[in-house]
Amino acid sequence: MKTVVKFASIQLTSVLVLLLLLVQGVAFAGNKVVIAHRGASGYLPEHSMAAKAMAYAMGVDYIEQDVAMTKDDQLVVLHDHYLDRVTNVADVYPDRKRKDDRYYVMDFTLAEIRGLAMTEGFEMKDGKRVPVFPDRFPIWKSSFRVHTLQEEIEMIQGLNKSTGRNVGIYTEIKAPWLHRHEGKEITRAVLEVLKEYGYTRKSNNVYLQCFDPNELKRIRNELFPEMEMDLKLIQLIAENDWDETMVYDKEGKAKSYDYSWMLKQGAMAKIAEYADGIGPWTPQIVKDGSTRNKLIITDMVQEAHAAGMKVHPYTFRLDHGQIPPYAASFEELIDILLYTAGVDGIFTDFPDRAVNYLRRAEYQRLGL
Ligand code: CA
Repeated sequence: MKTVVKFASIQLTSVLVLLLLLVQGVAFAGNKVVIAHRGASGYLPEHSMAAKAMAYAMGVDYIEQDVAMTKDDQLVVLHDHYLDRVTNVADVYPDRKRKDDRYYVMDFTLAEIRGLAMTEGFEMKDGKRVPVFPDRFPIWKSSFRVHTLQEEIEMIQGLNKSTGRNVGIYTEIKAPWLHRHEGKEITRAVLEVLKEYGYTRKSNNVYLQCFDPNELKRIRNELFPEMEMDLKLIQLIAENDWDETMVYDKEGKAKSYDYSWMLKQGAMAKIAEYADGIGPWTPQIVKDGSTRNKLIITDMVQEAHAAGMKVHPYTFRLDHGQIPPYAASFEELIDILLYTAGVDGIFTDFPDRAVNYLRRAEYQRLGL
């Protein structure tokens, strides 16, 4: 009798654990997501393979790749289409900068870029290189290298195999307007790689993001049908003065793309004609000037949801001065965005903090 009771109680425990796992799975899947912005870039140099592995281990849903194209048409994972903020290119190739004093990824071969040392991001101050974020990984320490898009996908897919998890990729085509202007078909090349690695359908665990709406429309209306692909597209939304997207006039002069229409009423329905979601800047959702007692929340999330789109704002950081005054902490900030403004996921440099917060919040919501 005793054995039977014991057996029954073990069975009951197993069922409970199973139920818990099921509830957990259902609760986490298809719900709020954490996107590792350039990897776990708050802790290791952005876009280094180490930062990607760390993000994976932190339990994120997606890992971001920013992609630029080299002189020999290879795809490398770098945030800028320049090399000078995160490598020693200026020391190794001092005479290969352009007139604007920048070193362009597209002016160097993959072999040359692989030979550079990669580091935490820095800027020049009084003729000296100083880190952009002083509390992060020290500049020029250890050994990091630029890698290709294929190498990163292989690592994430390899980890998916060895861990049994299914972490997605969140790939951004950087400055397609500039690449095209310089005769480089970066977009088609990125799509070919995604297709090669099995990302061909909206149901696959991938988002493709871009700031350039013209390029997104081209992907949706021309390249997808031609390449027999159909992925989830994200329209990133910038502020005009960042010069994130440029448009060339007939004389070849570049002018900043005007994003202001995307902030107006009715814009989300227009974006939904070619995209599946938006990646806005956080102040486009919770406005500057918000206070703890009075949040000024725009209609963007509500309108995007009404148009059937996801909303994944950027970038959540812990560094000094990065938490807006309306939030007392990083956790409060993400709580406001996720649960008051109602966004579907966030891009963060500190994925462990977001994953832990989200898990706690979901458990509480479920009364566990
Ligand atoms: Ca990006």
